[in-house]
Amino acid sequence: MAPEVKYTKLFINNEWVDAKSGKTFDTLSPHDGSVIATVPEGDKPDIDLAVSAAKAAFHRNSEWRLLDASARGRLLNKFADLFERDLAYLSELESYDNGMVLTMTYGFMSRAVNTIRYLASLADKIQGDTIPADGDLFSYTLKQPIGVCGLILPWNVPILMFINKVVTALAAGCTVVVKPAEQTPLTALALAALIKEAGIPAGVVNVVTGYGPGAGTSLTHHPDVAKISFTGSAEVGKLIQQAAGKVNLKRVTLELGGKSPLIIMDDADLNVAVPAAAYGVFTHQGQICIAASRLFVQAGIYDKFVEKAVEFAKNRKVGHPNDSDTEQGPQIDDEMMNKVLGYINKGKQEGAKLLTGGNRIGTTGYYIEPTVFADVKDDMIIAKEEIFGPVQSILKFDNLEEALERANNTSYGLAAGIFTNNINNALQFAKHSEAGTVWVNNYLNGSVQLPFGGFKESGLGRENGVSCVDAYLEVKTVAITLPKKF
Ligand code: NAP
Ligand code: MG
Repeated sequence: MAPEVKYTKLFINNEWVDAKSGKTFDTLSPHDGSVIATVPEGDKPDIDLAVSAAKAAFHRNSEWRLLDASARGRLLNKFADLFERDLAYLSELESYDNGMVLTMTYGFMSRAVNTIRYLASLADKIQGDTIPADGDLFSYTLKQPIGVCGLILPWNVPILMFINKVVTALAAGCTVVVKPAEQTPLTALALAALIKEAGIPAGVVNVVTGYGPGAGTSLTHHPDVAKISFTGSAEVGKLIQQAAGKVNLKRVTLELGGKSPLIIMDDADLNVAVPAAAYGVFTHQGQICIAASRLFVQAGIYDKFVEKAVEFAKNRKVGHPNDSDTEQGPQIDDEMMNKVLGYINKGKQEGAKLLTGGNRIGTTGYYIEPTVFADVKDDMIIAKEEIFGPVQSILKFDNLEEALERANNTSYGLAAGIFTNNINNALQFAKHSEAGTVWVNNYLNGSVQLPFGGFKESGLGRENGVSCVDAYLEVKTVAITLPKKF
């Protein structure tokens, strides 16, 4: 049964309101394209309202700013309790709106609870230094919240992105305006209701549903927004950095795409490496920024590996996200489905060997067969551009030196992986990979304690890890005259 959609308005200053224009848009089911709900199309007037609410909530005498840091942490822990209480509902709503397989969504959401608690725990551990400066100075630093933050979310893992950005910003003491992706507005609104229930003061969190050009650009160009944190495409990431530079030099955190290489050496255990490589690229229908979308396999095991990879892909169960045995659900929408099918066609045209899959499944919804290409060459489009779909591209290599060179030969740098039993190879690869995360003998394993972000065009800054609040803080130096002798 479909989960009830309880919140379909903008959330501004703890109130549920319509867009000023009265305009709305539909959010569609990835399973069959039907309308799930209709939400307001927020635009500049709504962003202006939300930003002024967030600005008022950030005033030095506001309830939020006068809270002890530990009390901020307790409120966020209360939010974690409510999230845990509603975990099943939130999982169902997320899966309903974005097509993530439900069993996997439950797993993600359990991790999300830990993430909230970890980030909440950072609230009262923000501290500066006392510094032995030259001269007659007593000096210390204060670390203070940046101000109003604009948080722009993608559609692939909306709840996790809401948490990474909102809870970190709040732990730092900032206030926020969230713009969810047009495809997946619903869970951000459901989480806003929990923020309110947790007792977080009005205006601290605001959610404005709407489109990128419109709500998104109004946020990135707003003079009272001090920082933007964004997850999405590299293309939009660049626009956001430009907008940030144009108006008030906003601080920017960008989590962008990838074309992540995974290296399988001759000595790897294929029973482990084949499934790991498959999950690395097929998880969530390939709609993950860290997808292992360039799979380099060493010549000695290449044929055997390709054979097993094809067998693995063929056995993957594609179906309705709610079915307990489903491993792969639909792509987010028709646009993304057609984009992925377009890449598959280009792969065929450019001479990559299509060994399984390659087609849409059925005529309703946005399902694509798990697809494996072998004999992919570095200069083919499918080896260069982010596909964001269930497409495994296998490339052959002879030695690690060569694989490393080819792996790094991309404008992206989000993640990389290697399977080998040779510790020197593993450590050399980890050292020289141009990527924000390197996995050795596993792929995709993340945890909130680990900093996450990209080299090169995969982004700017890091989320998670013990230093993640720094991205929402300014450092203030205080220098006081204090003669050395009195
Ligand atoms: P996108 O265009 O980058 O959208 C991400 C978010 O930014 C959405 O909320 C979007 O609003 C908003 N946005 C778009 N243009 C904007 C602008 N000029 N100013 C401010 N905000 C703006 O991503 P997409 O179109 O959904 O997906 C396209 C590609 O992005 C995918 O094929 C994939 O390669 C990549 N992607 C990467 C990730 C990741 O995790 N790194 C996640 C999702 C997508 P709208 O909803 O109106 O577009
Ligand atoms: Mg877009």
